[in-house]
Amino acid sequence: MHKRILVVEDEASIRDMVAFALRKADMEVIHAADARAALVAISDTPPDLILLDWMLPGMTGLELARRLRGEQGTAEVPIIMLTARGEEMDRVNGLEAGVDDYVVKPFSTRELIARIKAVLRRAQGDDGAGSIESGGLRIDGPAHRVYAGDTQIEIGPTEYRLLHFFMTHAERVYSRAQLLDQVWGGSVYVEERTVDVHIRRLRKTLEPFGVDGLIQTVRGTGYRFSVNP
Ligand code: CA
Repeated sequence: MHKRILVVEDEASIRDMVAFALRKADMEVIHAADARAALVAISDTPPDLILLDWMLPGMTGLELARRLRGEQGTAEVPIIMLTARGEEMDRVNGLEAGVDDYVVKPFSTRELIARIKAVLRRAQGDDGAGSIESGGLRIDGPAHRVYAGDTQIEIGPTEYRLLHFFMTHAERVYSRAQLLDQVWGGSVYVEERTVDVHIRRLRKTLEPFGVDGLIQTVRGTGYRFSVNP
């Protein structure tokens, strides 16, 4: 299966260079010169990943990323942002908008493709059996076990589900309501502070292994799993 990549970039020279490199790497390319064209392309043929230029005429790449994250059909589509050097300062903004990675211009197409492949792997979440490794933690899906290095961690069933969700959706912020929906299931009535209770337990479980910092509080928003402190 060819991965379909949507390239949103207003500079034709960069767009063409990227499209050429992606096709050579066996990927399918669709492109758009601005946010409006991107939205049309997305509703037409949903991509596996979006390469999004930060500075676009009209709606900026960041605004588009926020909008895509907020919509059901596109909330899970990975986004890699293309930024010029000076825009690195806004990295935090982008991460909060749910962007998966950054590539700073000028970039080599080889680096770009490596990043795309890494994000696609991560977006796939796990190996299909529910196993995943990140930040020094490893989940053995079939065995329902969690390891820090070689040591098995004793973990409760809710904390396990919470951790598994976080690890397969790393680097994104989730509100308490979203976590309830994703981890507890929307049909169950649970108060939002229940999430805080289990987050605390999860951190306590991870603390002896020095990896509790992977579960981060984003003030006023919610929580995320991140390998970046
Ligand atoms: Ca641009």
